[in-house]
Amino acid sequence: MKTKLLTKQDIETAAAILRDGGLLGIPTETVYGLGADGLNPKAVRRIFEAKGRPQDNPLILHIPDASWLERYCCGVPETAYVLAERFWPGPLTMILPRREIVPDAVTCGLDTVGIRCPNHPVTLAIIRLAGVPVAAPSGNLSGRPSPTRAAHMLEDMDGRIDAIVDGGPCGVGVESTIIDLTAPVPRLLRPGGLPLEALREVLGDVAVDRAVLAPLSAGEKPKAPGMKYRHYAPKAPVTVVAGPGEGTARYIRERMGKHTGVICFDEFAGGFPGCTVNPIGSGRDPGEQARRVFDALRAFDGTDVTEIFAQCPGDAGLGLAVANRLKKAAGFQVVEIGEDAP
Ligand code: AMP
Ligand code: MG
Repeated sequence: MKTKLLTKQDIETAAAILRDGGLLGIPTETVYGLGADGLNPKAVRRIFEAKGRPQDNPLILHIPDASWLERYCCGVPETAYVLAERFWPGPLTMILPRREIVPDAVTCGLDTVGIRCPNHPVTLAIIRLAGVPVAAPSGNLSGRPSPTRAAHMLEDMDGRIDAIVDGGPCGVGVESTIIDLTAPVPRLLRPGGLPLEALREVLGDVAVDRAVLAPLSAGEKPKAPGMKYRHYAPKAPVTVVAGPGEGTARYIRERMGKHTGVICFDEFAGGFPGCTVNPIGSGRDPGEQARRVFDALRAFDGTDVTEIFAQCPGDAGLGLAVANRLKKAAGFQVVEIGEDAP
């Protein structure tokens, strides 16, 4: 199969691919998605094949506005509408009880479905024109860093899908925040492009699932099935070095060699001579770090780097999502440097 690169003018071609059961790369504000008609089980199963995605990791349904919620979900709580009003279109996925019409292929047999309205005019227009909800995970091969540009998605998916719509680089850069509204207390399943603080402002109490912060122990069943897999990983192994900038930079300097890759804040980019250095923005700007973190991870592939060290932001704002992606890329191989390390 030859994968076509479409532009934002090709909305009709893109919508026809979805309606015909094809696979389409879609731009969103978070990352590029690999979309198919979410009501067509055969098309949805092709997503799993193209990505090499484990069969028990469900997909998110993308809709053009909150008025479509009732079509695919039942018992929608008032809070879902409050959140939609405030944050949609935007990087927030809500887990809600599903209706029968949603195929098992999307939910992997769960009685809930993840649903979101992406903030990208081209993709919203395509979904409206197709007239179907679009099931889409991130558009990378399973386990690889998520794509934030059409060219990165093409690297992983060329020959495997019908087309990719080039909508430019993603403005947010990390996937959506996932909140489970079926739990007694709303539960954060994945930190993402909408900060936890913004959710707490609206919902008050929000529980944070343990898998957000630490690896699952053997046999433990995750609430978001995707959380149990190794994720976002470049080819070389990653070690996250968490803590204050000076201390973490020093730790990396003491261990670096010719084949060391470094992900760091801009302030420290000059401090690793001889290494392959991919800065992700100022240490004070987690929004910029989110936009750049996946590109930085991906950029080590095809270099002679055999090990990667990464500085890591704190948990405030989008820092929680950036830190989560880096730690997952590292398989939770994390070194903590204390505040007063010598
Ligand atoms: P991706 O967009 O590639 O990150 O994949 C979608 C994410 O949404 C995965 O981490 C899934 O585990 C999660 N997800 C989708 N549907 C559900 C659901 N019904 N319950 C919990 N997590 C879900
Ligand atoms: Mg993904």
